[in-house]
Amino acid sequence: MSSKRKITVAYGDGIGPEIMDATLRILDAAGAQLEYDVIEIGEKVYLKGISSGMEPKAIDSLRETKVFLKSPITTPQGGGFKSLNVTTRKSFGLYANVRPCKAYSPFVKTHFPKTDLVIIRENEEDLYAGIEHRQTQEVYQTLKLISEPGSEKIIRYAFEYAKKYGRKKVTCMTKDNIMKLADGLFHKKFNEVAKEYPEIEADHKIIDIGTALIADRPETFDVIVTLNLYGDIISDVAAQVTGSVGLGGSANVGEEVAMFEAIHGSAPDISGMGIANPSGLLNGAVMMLVHIGMPEIAEKISNAWMKTLEDGIHTGDIYQEGLSAKRATTKEFADAVIERLGQLPSSMKPAVFGEEATQPMQIKLTPKTKAKKELVGVDVFIDWDEDNRDPNVIGERLRKANADGLQLHLITNRGVKVFPEGLRETFCTDHWRCRFKTDDQRAISHEQVLDLLKQIKDLGFDFIKTEHLCVFDGVRGYSLAQGE
Ligand code: NAD
Repeated sequence: MSSKRKITVAYGDGIGPEIMDATLRILDAAGAQLEYDVIEIGEKVYLKGISSGMEPKAIDSLRETKVFLKSPITTPQGGGFKSLNVTTRKSFGLYANVRPCKAYSPFVKTHFPKTDLVIIRENEEDLYAGIEHRQTQEVYQTLKLISEPGSEKIIRYAFEYAKKYGRKKVTCMTKDNIMKLADGLFHKKFNEVAKEYPEIEADHKIIDIGTALIADRPETFDVIVTLNLYGDIISDVAAQVTGSVGLGGSANVGEEVAMFEAIHGSAPDISGMGIANPSGLLNGAVMMLVHIGMPEIAEKISNAWMKTLEDGIHTGDIYQEGLSAKRATTKEFADAVIERLGQLPSSMKPAVFGEEATQPMQIKLTPKTKAKKELVGVDVFIDWDEDNRDPNVIGERLRKANADGLQLHLITNRGVKVFPEGLRETFCTDHWRCRFKTDDQRAISHEQVLDLLKQIKDLGFDFIKTEHLCVFDGVRGYSLAQGE
């Protein structure tokens, strides 16, 4: 039996094969005892008609090896193709996306030479659930789902990561001034978990100013934890301000399986030219080596890679006249790293991972007691495009519906109250949210909701969805409408 550690490898699309060749050559030359189970993913698989971009045997390989080194892939536009990255992350429970962004100044040009931050992005939830509907002629909806265990898990991961790697501060970024329930939950969990780590500074920024600060003074951040979409955006901003998207590696970590990749895409504009920078994938592979318990090989590669940058051997994306010694092809860059294996960088701080870095992090969630849930009303969404969309017309007609006291409370259009007493200036689409409650706020039954829906239909309205208004242990579980 081979004593080599088997890992799953995918060469991907575009520049993928070029950078994977370079990366594997470096891993082998550094003495990593690895066996590669190569699977096919991406464009070719999509074009075979497999909408997930991954064949069943690839899934078997991942189940067996539990470690995936993956080149970027091209997601064909439209046609119902699912993003393979999103599918892999969600199917294998890879809940933590870890993206270190570090400046390598003066060897890689950046305005922020002291930047050394790590973005920890929630990887399974948020708008990436892919649940989208066209509800009316005019209105399309994407569902944003945030769960309590999902939030707690990633926040605990961020604090454990900070502790493990000796980092001093964790900054949470949300938009909870607007999304008070969903983003508010994330922020609340952050405050709760932070109390268990008094040695680590905890801080919160609204995502818009947070992103501006990453672009303007990235060196003030240490670890950042955030929701899926915000994390996706800020990690490209952070990678770009450190010099090039071609440098960053990323780990997608779950309880069993982990996937390692470059943060950039398949770069079709330079595919096949042999000039792509393999550093992003190589840095992903370094994180993988630490993960599978080969920290010495990870250090050896990381140090040789830094020495290569210091010696001015640069691919085109980071080449600078006057500073770079050679504009290297992908292959020449890999050869230069291989030549320097065993050497340390002269002016940058050498990489030290240590045995401790290889220990898996134990993330334990707080046990929960079930809250008492009461149904107190229902929002009925209606597709209506008659009578010049006059809110008073739909409002007066819906007032006729009454299911044992469950009756119209207000109507909003795109979140703005339009009935009763709306402003005539408010622009209305064909999508109406009609809130039904009892006057005395008492609990209602599902039968009342069904009765109400029947009455709404009999009044001639096309209802398109309902959302229940619930109270959990006496705490309102829905946002108030604007003007409510
Ligand atoms: P991209 O990251 O592929 O390219 C953006 C720019 O950066 C291009 O000019 C490209 O030449 C340059 N670049 C990227 N990597 C480089 C490298 N290693 N060396 C030198 N230059 C590099 O982004 P895009 O053009 O928006 O996306 C192209 C395709 O990649 C799309 O199909 C997209 O869906 C896919 N994509 C895949 C992943 C992934 O598999 N993880 C991630 C992002 C995008």
